[in-house]
Amino acid sequence: MQGVPVGDIAEKYGTPFFVYDSQVLADTFHGLDEVLPSGVDILFSLKANPNISVCSFLGRQGAGAEVSSAVELMTALRAGIDPDDIIFLGPGKTEADLSACVATGIHAVVCESLPEVRLLDEVAAAAGAGPVPVLLRVNPGFTSKGSGLSMGGKPRQFGMDEDVVRAAGDELGALRHIEVKGFHAYMGTRFLNHQDVVDNTARILAMAEHLAKDLGVPLRTVDFGGGLGVAYFENESGIDIAGLGDGMRDPVAGFRDRHPECRVIMELGRFLTADAGTYVTRALYVKESMGETFVIADGGTNHHMAAVGIGSFVKRNFPIRNLDRPGAPPDGTYTVTGPLCTPNDTVVKKAKLPEVRPGDLLGIERSGAYGPTASPGLFLSHGYPAEILVHRGRPLLVRERDTPEDLLAPQRLAPLDETP
Ligand SMILES: *Cc1c(COP(=O)(O)O)cnc(C)c1O
Repeated sequence: MQGVPVGDIAEKYGTPFFVYDSQVLADTFHGLDEVLPSGVDILFSLKANPNISVCSFLGRQGAGAEVSSAVELMTALRAGIDPDDIIFLGPGKTEADLSACVATGIHAVVCESLPEVRLLDEVAAAAGAGPVPVLLRVNPGFTSKGSGLSMGGKPRQFGMDEDVVRAAGDELGALRHIEVKGFHAYMGTRFLNHQDVVDNTARILAMAEHLAKDLGVPLRTVDFGGGLGVAYFENESGIDIAGLGDGMRDPVAGFRDRHPECRVIMELGRFLTADAGTYVTRALYVKESMGETFVIADGGTNHHMAAVGIGSFVKRNFPIRNLDRPGAPPDGTYTVTGPLCTPNDTVVKKAKLPEVRPGDLLGIERSGAYGPTASPGLFLSHGYPAEILVHRGRPLLVRERDTPEDLLAPQRLAPLDETP
């Protein structure tokens, strides 16, 4: 990676680990930014990869942040993201979360229910804060095709149905400490066909215009989600970014002509970070069972649950390479499993690989999104892996591996004998 042998990183920091390539992060961000119509801001959804250095690097490229917890908000702020480029969303914000939003003066709180809007109004009043900018998250009446996990057109715990928003106009107008600035909608994740995203964008912009009119509020921000996919599996191809940019031009330009003051936002997690990341794990043992060859590696689904197959019942394989035999032809099929005591800890099933010997490093690619934080890292007390960012040809440790003490320190040994 950037001329750094992954074996050197393994030597220095041990295995398993995630390694991110800053050049790929930059190329992915700018590749998208350049084709999008001007005036579309990209926010990074920290959920996909909350590493503070990854966030900081993307921030320097020009990304804002979409956060969904108080700690993600702190991460984005410490990573140097301007509060005016941060939005906070999520269906279960606590009063403390809302207070943190008010105190930091972020671009907008994306409210997902009327009770939440009322609570935010109270929190803002108590803090003596001026009207706090709010986007209403809408659960659209329409649904979308092409997503691995689609939203809209069905009952959801996220956002408010369009008719709920419409019926709330008077009440929202009467709240003095919040100000509805616009709308948010998110249609799903893993879109691989650009036309589906274009269609969603046009429909969400139109919906926002209608709702703003019905509520009599000015449109200052519309966030039309994103959910761009990456091609993980053999039968998939990546989303056509140039086609996406072309398709968005007319709907976005028309909208911006009618609402020149309005900020248009797209929020993305997976697309921005997946390609840049590789999960590196070391083969411990190679053995046969009833005709199948197993590689038991020192890390597996405890760090990389996504590799088990996202949104699909058929287990499909992430791209995997034997980093110790680059370019060598496959010599057989290998099922790679991790250290957990469950048959589900299978990272790839019957993948064709060059010979795998104990000690070899295996790299699972496109793994920069929904990795360790979306995995059962505490299962069997293995803990969180190290994370390394390769930047300007240097490996930088951006997350320490959990030590046994890190894992045991929060536990308390009960004074069983002294307890009467
Ligand atoms: C998860 C999520 C995202 C990020 O989705 P990706 O598919 O990773 O881009 C963005 N917005 C909302 C509301 C989400 O729930």
